[in-house]
Amino acid sequence: MKYLAHYSEGLRAQVQSLLDEGQLDAWLRRRYPALDEGHELQSNAALYNFAVGIKRAKMASSRPLSKVRYCDKISTLNHALGLHTYAARVQGAKVKTKHEIRVASVFKRGPVEFVEMIVVHELAHLRERDHNKAFYRLCRHMLPDYDRVEFDMRVWLTLIDTRR
Ligand SMILES: [Zn+2]
Repeated sequence: MKYLAHYSEGLRAQVQSLLDEGQLDAWLRRRYPALDEGHELQSNAALYNFAVGIKRAKMASSRPLSKVRYCDKISTLNHALGLHTYAARVQGAKVKTKHEIRVASVFKRGPVEFVEMIVVHELAHLRERDHNKAFYRLCRHMLPDYDRVEFDMRVWLTLIDTRR
């Protein structure tokens, strides 16, 4: 239950019993019928366009994104699901800043809603570095269902871990 460490014991127990009864997959499918069928955002270019679309619609005044891509090296075992890096580089007389978002490759599988949630999370970090109230307000502004989708995504990671 490591992906659900931040949730209540009661909630974790419910997930555990669904898992024990072999019902967790069905529970997720009620909300995400195409759970294992993959989605259209398979390429880095598609992922980039998707992220830029959300950013343009909901966070237009934030710094531009240089790159958005899938990354095989992000290990969800270490609780990282996505990463953002912000690098400032002096080039001639100008300071060039690069903001990059990486999404763990595991999310190429699973529903597109989970990709959206991770992208929203990393976009919110363009404005807020920490996971504070303002940060989550921004996440919910971009994705009103943010909390629910994050929980579901963590349940899914728990499920696919048992299949390894
Ligand atoms: Zn974060």
